[in-house]
Amino acid sequence: MGFLKNAISGGISKGLSDGIGKGLRDAVGKAVEKAVTPAAENWANQTANSLNQAADATAQATNATAAAQQNAAAAGMNGAFANLQSAAENYATAVSMNLKQCPACGESCTADRQFCPACGAKLPETTVAAAFVCPSCGKQNTVGTGFCAACGTKLPGVED
Ligand SMILES: [Zn+2]
Ligand SMILES: [Zn+2]
Repeated sequence: MGFLKNAISGGISKGLSDGIGKGLRDAVGKAVEKAVTPAAENWANQTANSLNQAADATAQATNATAAAQQNAAAAGMNGAFANLQSAAENYATAVSMNLKQCPACGESCTADRQFCPACGAKLPETTVAAAFVCPSCGKQNTVGTGFCAACGTKLPGVED
């Protein structure tokens, strides 16, 4: 059953780097990615361990049963990815409430700063998370959201 263990661990690692990397890196700054990735990786490692244990437990099963168990494991992975993405988005949004992003160089820093520590440019008054507050109904959407989850208004946070 080694192949299954490798597939599960590899799948989680790939899903992690694809999901965290692409989605969050595009939407928010490097600092958010750095803050989110260790927690998400820890979570993914724990999930991989429990899936590996489940795979070990079914290693003695017949082929037919093993196939059913693989399907169950795959379904579990899909649920795990959904949970991981949701947890990462919520965490990124919380972190972003204390972050500003430099409009000149893209560097992220804490919200108490007025000038970019990397290039000295004047920073905006608003935090990264503020760009995902709906201008129409006021809902704080998760960072990276394109349209308000409550009313559908286009959000200013993601550049075209
Ligand atoms: Zn800068
Ligand atoms: Zn709205």
